[in-house]
Amino acid sequence: MDKVVVITGAASGIGKEIALTFAREGAKVVIADLDLKAAQETALEIDPAAQRALGVGMDVSNEEQVESGMARAIETFGRLDVLVSNAGVQIVAPLVEFDFEKWRKLLSIHLDGAFLTTRAALRQMYRQNSGSIIYMGSVHSKEASPFKAPYVTAKHGLIGLAKVVAKEGAAHGVRANVICPGFVRTPLVEKQIPEQARELGISAADVVKTVMLRETVDGEFTTVQDVAEAALFLAAFPSNALTGQSIVVSHGWFMQ
Ligand code: NAD
Repeated sequence: MDKVVVITGAASGIGKEIALTFAREGAKVVIADLDLKAAQETALEIDPAAQRALGVGMDVSNEEQVESGMARAIETFGRLDVLVSNAGVQIVAPLVEFDFEKWRKLLSIHLDGAFLTTRAALRQMYRQNSGSIIYMGSVHSKEASPFKAPYVTAKHGLIGLAKVVAKEGAAHGVRANVICPGFVRTPLVEKQIPEQARELGISAADVVKTVMLRETVDGEFTTVQDVAEAALFLAAFPSNALTGQSIVVSHGWFMQ
């Protein structure tokens, strides 16, 4: 695959697997993450010669950092074919107690981050007259769970953004879609298990069984590889007819 791909939040979990997968397919990848050291280590793991992978420090909710990070990515590899807007965090608490600063922080990382990286990517993609933007939604882009008010709100919002980008971008050869994974055992989820156990007054094992996997058809977690394969599909020509869509990758949890 002869493409340049920027992935945010790519120093861990789903984003890292997407970076590894695209790199294996021959793409040049930019690992953009709040954690610069981990981003650089991931880039070196992908390409010790530092020719085909670049680690960039970027807080996606900070306009200046997004502008300079995206500019560096485009300058380094000369073009931009795919943006995977993936960086995200989770904060779990009952809505009635939700701290306003934490609400704003979560919305800002998920929604400001998606907007800022999209805007910077579109400028380059419009010049090239081609591009694919992939948002990391969630089953929570389609359905709610208790204690996750800002997360559910933000993930629903990404579907709206993708639809607008699909409509505005079409004239410039740009597509936009959302991947909606079920639970994947990344650091984000490992941290959530004891938090949810506390909120619900049940054991960690019961959180996994009765909350996270209850509605899957086979009791299985989604894997980082499952999500990366969906991203690969949405990035390339075989998905040419897909734009403004959301694909649920969840072992059957939430059937549309
Ligand atoms: P993770 O915690 O393993 O990785 C998240 C990465 O994002 C980390 O490297 C972190 O440093 C980075 N990050 C956090 N804040 C950032 C910021 N402000 N700017 C730039 N980078 C930042 O989590 P993950 O599970 O791989 O999650 C990745 C995405 O997938 C998130 O958007 C998450 O909501 C979504 N998602 C995860 C699951 C799941 O079950 N793990 C399910 C559905 C959707």
